Amino acid sequence: MKNRLFRCVMAAVACTILISGCAKEEPAPPEGYVEIDTDPEDVDDTVVPEEELHFAEAVPYTGDEQKEDTTVTASESGEDNEKDDKASADDSEEADGKDKDKDKESEEYLPGYKTEEEWKERHTGSVSYIWEPTVIVSIFIDEEEDVWTKDEKQKILDICNIGYGFVDEYMEENYDTDVELIYDWTEDPELAYSVRLYEDIPAYVTTEQERYLDDLELGWVSEIPYRELCLKYNTSSIGFLYLVPHEGCSYTSMHFTDDGSNIWNEGSLMYLQDMYSDTLEYETPTVFAHELLHLFGAEDFYASAEVFSKETYDTLAKECEDDIMLRTFIEVDGVYTTFPDEVYGEITPVTAYLLGIGDDNIVKDIPELKRKEAACFPGSVYDRPF
Ligand SMILES: [Zn+2]
Repeated sequence: MKNRLFRCVMAAVACTILISGCAKEEPAPPEGYVEIDTDPEDVDDTVVPEEELHFAEAVPYTGDEQKEDTTVTASESGEDNEKDDKASADDSEEADGKDKDKDKESEEYLPGYKTEEEWKERHTGSVSYIWEPTVIVSIFIDEEEDVWTKDEKQKILDICNIGYGFVDEYMEENYDTDVELIYDWTEDPELAYSVRLYEDIPAYVTTEQERYLDDLELGWVSEIPYRELCLKYNTSSIGFLYLVPHEGCSYTSMHFTDDGSNIWNEGSLMYLQDMYSDTLEYETPTVFAHELLHLFGAEDFYASAEVFSKETYDTLAKECEDDIMLRTFIEVDGVYTTFPDEVYGEITPVTAYLLGIGDDNIVKDIPELKRKEAACFPGSVYDRPF
């Protein structure tokens, strides 16, 4: 197992990218955050369904032998897909036979998209359009000294319910768009998993640490029967929550179109508590909603993201002043203030446009936001200044 993860990590290191969008504009990361230990030998790569910790009737993934084989194949998907692409180009008999087998397998698991290749032609990343049913899988990360409690997990689900409920209602009322998010693991235990990590995830993750974590996440996701979940819920849109049992600054890793299929699975690393809150209150529903919209193609609107020009950020600050992509907290008399029981803010037409709703007129004053394709991040993460 360890060996496989190590290979997977190494393969991913070669082609991986990572990007983050910390929802907070200020303040700067604190001094002295914990350096992550980047030795893969220290990592326990065991991923187990929530059979012990689960509240509902657990349905641990045991699959038949063939399905288990498929899962293993998927665990090296980054490498294999590249091989498949090359094999197709060669068009050799042997490769052709292999491809047919692969296609057959993919057809079985990706409803609505005949092959994995077609799935990835959409450029949206694994989380596609906000109007498609989307499965969100929760992966609770237990650290050596810090393990998720049942109450904390329930708290996170409660916060999800508020944040995701807001997006659902807002999109329906304002944009006549039905949102269907499938994430409640009390209803379906297959939507939540635990992993054990014998090192601590820092509260503020640097770019280098993000890349390391992205590789770990790739390994975890490969152990989850996510294609079966797609089949079960008749969708090919799937995202992941990596949940950390302490305070920190949450962020999202997105797919970029020019980076091909290397990093396809999109997910958000979410902390239990907000590191910027003096009282270390729980992460807020607003941040959960903000990170969710990233998965569907929304950009950060605050200037410190440093992706667009100053002019664009000035316009966004004016036109979208209450957008949750601009700010997830407010300052009241200079005090950092968040809202634990509600989402405080809007999803403006500019954000809706990035999700794929509305035409280019919406961004006529903000040409840098114009999209050739909806609901995806154009370019490559390497072009971005993070
Ligand atoms: Zn963000």
